[in-house]
Amino acid sequence: RIEFGIIIMALTLAAAWRMFRALRAYARSEERLTHAATHDALTGLPNRAYAQDHLNSLLARPRQEHGLVALLFLDIDRFKLINDSYGHSLGDELLLAVARRLRTTTRPGDLVARIGGDEFVIVLANLPTTSKALEVAERTRLSLQFPFDVRGVEVVASASIGVSLSNGTDSSLDAEALIRDADTAMYRAKETGRDAVCVFDSSMRDSATRRVELERDLRHAMESDELY
Ligand code: GH3
Ligand code: MG
Repeated sequence: RIEFGIIIMALTLAAAWRMFRALRAYARSEERLTHAATHDALTGLPNRAYAQDHLNSLLARPRQEHGLVALLFLDIDRFKLINDSYGHSLGDELLLAVARRLRTTTRPGDLVARIGGDEFVIVLANLPTTSKALEVAERTRLSLQFPFDVRGVEVVASASIGVSLSNGTDSSLDAEALIRDADTAMYRAKETGRDAVCVFDSSMRDSATRRVELERDLRHAMESDELY
């Protein structure tokens, strides 16, 4: 009867062990899924969803806790040319190298995310002044000027950077608005000839709206033969 008891105990232990392993595997796959949903597969950096959540939770806190918040929106200049000249996979490696460089030129508390093809954002919190944000943006722009060595190929890259700021007083400035404004400013930096930093101001939004509306109106005018 003792042997019988031992067998029962062994079976119970084996079942418990298997259950434990299954639960652990489940927890790990959950972790992997969450990571995949919030990170970019190529660079391992946080993705757009992560950056938006991070910004929103930052902005939801009282102003004394996060101080001045700046968002840098960075888009590599003429990246298509690099893909077209050296191939898409070298382009991928350049994106990886850019990601690494952005990580090393920022502080550990700053968020660096890849939010699209050749688009990155950097979230800076607790800034003492607006000019500090500009200083970081300018330093980031300059840091890309050192040539990259990608698979033994010397690649020179630059980026256009748009900056938007929140001092915590305008509650309508959520993450989406901050990203949109920095994107608009980045577009302005492209227009000035690229490899430049531009800070958002509301006149840019007005001119973007005017442009969209003018395009729409021109389309209507063409359809109804009103152009002469
Ligand atoms: P601009 O100066 O106006 O930004 O010119 P651009 O050529 O960089 O144009 P844009 O930023 O509009 O396009 C980015 C290009 O990046 C488009 C696409 O061919 C390429 N791209 C997007 N995602 C990836 C990726 O994951 N890997 C590689 N290698 N290329 C990508
Ligand atoms: Mg680009």
